[in-house]
Amino acid sequence: MVQLAEITWTDAKEFFSESDVVILPVGSTEQHGPHNPLGTDYLNAEAVSRVVGERTKTLVLPVIPVGVSEHHRQFPGTLWVPPQVFREYVEAVALSAASHGARKIVIVNGHGGNTASLLEVAGHLRRECGVFAVVVMAFPPGMMEIGGGHAGAGETSANLYWHPHLVKMERAPRTRQKERLGGLRMQGMGRVGPAQFPWDTIDLTETGLLGGAGQDLDASTASAEKIKPMMEKFLDNLCEFVEALKKEDVKSLLCKPHK
Ligand SMILES: [Zn+2]
Repeated sequence: MVQLAEITWTDAKEFFSESDVVILPVGSTEQHGPHNPLGTDYLNAEAVSRVVGERTKTLVLPVIPVGVSEHHRQFPGTLWVPPQVFREYVEAVALSAASHGARKIVIVNGHGGNTASLLEVAGHLRRECGVFAVVVMAFPPGMMEIGGGHAGAGETSANLYWHPHLVKMERAPRTRQKERLGGLRMQGMGRVGPAQFPWDTIDLTETGLLGGAGQDLDASTASAEKIKPMMEKFLDNLCEFVEALKKEDVKSLLCKPHK
């Protein structure tokens, strides 16, 4: 048993006395197309954390299920908190774990929109709080090769790998992303001409399957088999990293003193 939520405080005391590493899954509750569950990002972060926690006997904290997702606001069911609230909340959770002895925190993040905020938190923890936190995406690095985009074939394959019963493949869309915002031509995700703008998902797609302007996306090619080899390798690598982190003296990882 490595889930903090499922053990007692006396068991937790033992965990913290044996290791200063904990895993913190973080995700989002946001639309993932008409075929994937709204919890995709936090469910995947939780699943990866559970496997890595069990294999390396590392304590897994409860998942943080709502993140920085306001750009999906037009799609029913999407929840979000402002980035500053998210940063403060994640940091407070991390510091409460640190108060029990967790000086190294592996944040397993299922949502790209959280990354900038999480790195800011990790920076503050390292520089000011004596806590070494790292951020790792909850997906194999090569996942987008299966099929790109938010809720695309790659991410849908991850869902099929972890929780196939929650995916409605008969609804998996094939879409072309929009190319214009009003009369202006969009480029990539979030540019009009040479300028960046604060895009919403709905600016590019009706279905929620999201990629760059003008891109063709097809979520129907997703499968668990396609992602399996890279997922297994990814989990092995992550376990290796956690083991290496356990052996490291936290002092060697923290901010260097003044010259
Ligand atoms: Zn996602």
